[in-house]
Amino acid sequence: MIRKFISRVLGRTGPAKPERPAVIAVAQHGLQSDQISRACRRTIETLQENGYQAYVVGGAVRDLLAGLTPKDFDVATNATPEQVRHCFRRARIIGRRFQIVHVNIGTETIEVTTFRGHHGEQGGNKAQTDEQGRVLRDNVFGSQAEDAARRDFTVNALYYDPSSETIVDYHHGVADLKQKTLRMIGDPKTRYREDPVRMLRAVRLAAKLGLMVDPAASRPIREMTELIENVPPSRLFDEMLKLLTSGHAVRCVTRLREEGLHHGLLPLLDVILDQPLGERFVMLALESTDRRVREGKPVSPGFLFAALLWNEVLIKWEALKKRGDPLIPALFQAMDEVLDVQAEKLAITRRIAGDIKDIWALQPRFEQRSGKRPYGVLQQPRFRAGYDFLLLRVESGEVAQEIGAWWTDFLHASDEERAGMLLPPPAGETRKRRRRPARTRPSNTE
Ligand code: ATP
Ligand code: MG
Repeated sequence: MIRKFISRVLGRTGPAKPERPAVIAVAQHGLQSDQISRACRRTIETLQENGYQAYVVGGAVRDLLAGLTPKDFDVATNATPEQVRHCFRRARIIGRRFQIVHVNIGTETIEVTTFRGHHGEQGGNKAQTDEQGRVLRDNVFGSQAEDAARRDFTVNALYYDPSSETIVDYHHGVADLKQKTLRMIGDPKTRYREDPVRMLRAVRLAAKLGLMVDPAASRPIREMTELIENVPPSRLFDEMLKLLTSGHAVRCVTRLREEGLHHGLLPLLDVILDQPLGERFVMLALESTDRRVREGKPVSPGFLFAALLWNEVLIKWEALKKRGDPLIPALFQAMDEVLDVQAEKLAITRRIAGDIKDIWALQPRFEQRSGKRPYGVLQQPRFRAGYDFLLLRVESGEVAQEIGAWWTDFLHASDEERAGMLLPPPAGETRKRRRRPARTRPSNTE
């Protein structure tokens, strides 16, 4: 009792010990089995019928208890991947570093993971780490208690058994959730060193669930931000994307800023948020993304990153134009430079980089409202995204209202009305130029 009290006061330092878990009944937690997807229940029943332990685990249990709809359902079991695969007709093992099994039932895919063991010194299985203590490899199977201790926050270490409707809780996660606290399992500094992405997860999960990050877990972040530099870019990109498409991007980014975390932590936000115009534009983009996510509409990563990086492009574009470079080649060079810099830190995939460029490249073409050019713009495959992007620029005050309004009208007008809306060709354009058919791509020689 006293030991428990001391460990609580000290913020539970040292590796969490596999003590006996609380088994919490439905009367206390209120989570009923019909809230679990059919495929997930079926998966668990099948594993249990075959003599294994199986539970819903992680984000799904946490989200349901918090009254949110889970993104997906994950299952944890004591069966090995091979044993799991044998229990199902449509199941395949994926992953090399740590194998998991995808079980397909109907149109759903359930991810089944074998309990993972200790990677701390305690279990004798010392994980491979880099000089900063980041865990590079940890692929040891273990007990349920060990699996729970490996998870990041107490609210993420809950195991729900649909057949008994009980929750197995090793780290007081149910109580923490009720008290709206996001608490780290084990010593926060050690856990951040093992995996610096947990700092971003803390911010994201607190924003998503409306929780307060326990001071013991939020305090060390400030001094540990530079550890993010060691995280592989692809992982950082995935986590950034999760954060920005969580439906709470504004809250997450505000939070990162309040703590001074955007410096160094997120190179992308570092510069942008320190410039008033950039900030207004980014916040508008994030607000509109949050709105879309909450309305259940899809959000495009390309659009999002195009918005986050636009101010950088504008600055570089301006510098190149001042140097005397022609308008469009200067834009394309600015785009490449910005994407190259970001690619080093965030592994923006090639497909997304392509989307970003398409959206940016359309922007100067919205200025052209004479001849056949507007028709060419309308036919661009990324027109819609480019147009939404234009409206965001209008809203932030970067582009004249009148241009946005013109495009909105043009988009909804009949053929006849459209013809009447075209502006006279700008002075200085020759007759010959005007007769040329509309181009489908901005030419580099324009
Ligand atoms: P969401 O799905 O809403 O993004 P989540 O908590 O389910 O949140 P996942 O990435 O799906 O996040 O991870 C599932 C579970 O795996 C988590 O609930 C947690 O228990 C564990 N987990 C994920 N990432 C980490 C990590 N970096 N360190 C320790 N445990 C983790
Ligand atoms: Mg999840």
